Amino acid sequence: MRNIFDLTKEELENYFLSLGEKKFKATQVYEWLYEKKEYNLNNFTNLKKELRDQLLATFSTDLITIEKKESDHLTHKYLFRLKDNNFIEAVVMEHDYGTSICVSSEVGCNMACKFCESGRQKKIRNLEAYEIVEQILVIEQDLDIRIKSVVIMGIGEPLDNFDNIIRFIKIINDPKGLKIGARHITLSTCGLVPKMYELSKLPLQINLAISLHAPNDKLRNELMPVNKVYNIDTLMQGIKDYLQVTGRRITIEYVMLDNVNDKLSHAKELAKLFKGMNIYINLIPYNETNHLEFKRSSKKNILAFYDCLKKEGLNVTIRKEFGHKINAACGQLRGSMKQ
Ligand code: SAH
Repeated sequence: MRNIFDLTKEELENYFLSLGEKKFKATQVYEWLYEKKEYNLNNFTNLKKELRDQLLATFSTDLITIEKKESDHLTHKYLFRLKDNNFIEAVVMEHDYGTSICVSSEVGCNMACKFCESGRQKKIRNLEAYEIVEQILVIEQDLDIRIKSVVIMGIGEPLDNFDNIIRFIKIINDPKGLKIGARHITLSTCGLVPKMYELSKLPLQINLAISLHAPNDKLRNELMPVNKVYNIDTLMQGIKDYLQVTGRRITIEYVMLDNVNDKLSHAKELAKLFKGMNIYINLIPYNETNHLEFKRSSKKNILAFYDCLKKEGLNVTIRKEFGHKINAACGQLRGSMKQ
C-alpha cells in the first residue's frame, strides 16, 4: 500500500484521472491532508463514499513515530522510528522570524566526512519522500506549530537520494501542500557535482548550500573523501555553472575545526577561490562529539577568520548556535541509540 504523503499533487491528479475522476479532487485531498491536517481518509466528506473507499484501499496515512525528544529552550531534537525500525533525526529551531526544521534525507550516509557523526554510520537506505515529509508533519502536530523554513542538512547526502528529495521538495512547496516557499528551502550538499547540474536545470527556486570545509585539495581530501571524486577545481566549475544557470546566490558552509582548517592562511586561500562571486560564506562552529577527536575552533580564531574574509571583501556570517547542549549535531542522537 502506498503512503499518501509520497505523492506530488500532479501524481495524485493523474491517479484521479485514471479513475475517470476530475483532477481537482487531488486539490481537495491535499487540502485535507496539509491544511486541515485530517489524516483519516474516511473523514474526507467532500468525496463520495465509493471514492473514499477506493482511497482507503489504495493508500495508507501511517506516520513515522517519535522515539525520543530532547528540548533545550528554543531547540527540539527528535528521534523518529521508521516502519522498518530504522531511526532518523530532525531538529526544530524556533527563531524570532519563524520556525525552521532540519530534516534527514537518508538512513545513515555514505560520504564518510571525518568530522561528522553521521559519516561513521554507513548508509542503510534512502528515505522515501513521505518519510521526509512526515518529519515535518509529525513535529508540527507535536508542537502545534507551522514550520516556515526547511533545511535539508540532517543525516544523509540529499543529492545521493535525488529523486526522492525532488519529490519531497515539490510536495512541501505546493501551494496546496505545506506551502513552504522555495526561498525558504535550503538543500545542503558535500558537492556531488553532476547532481548539482541536474538540480540547476529544474524549475525550483530553492537555495543551495555547499559543504566546503577546506580551501585546498590536500586538506579537503583528508576531511572529505568525496573530494577524491570531485576535487575543488571540479566543484568550483560546478558552482560557477550553477550560479550562471540559476542566477541564485550559493551558500558556502565552512565548519571551524580547531587547528585543522581555521588558520588565516586558510581564510586567504578561501578568499582567493571566491572573490567576486555571488556567494556567501557561513562559518559553522563545530559541534564536538564523543566519538571523534576534532575540536571546535576558539571564538578568537573564528572571529579572526571572519575578519580576514571580510577584509578580503567576501560576504560572511557566523552561524548562530543552536542546541549543542542536546547533541544536536547531525547524527548524534541516532548515534546514541546504537549499542
Ligand atoms: N550531506 C550534506 C548534508 C548533511 S550534513 C552536506 O554535506 O552538506 C550538514 C552540514 O553539517 C554539513 O555542512 C556538514 O559538514 C556539517 N556537519 C557535520 N557534522 C558536524 C558537526 N559535528 N558540527 C558542525 N557541523 C557539522
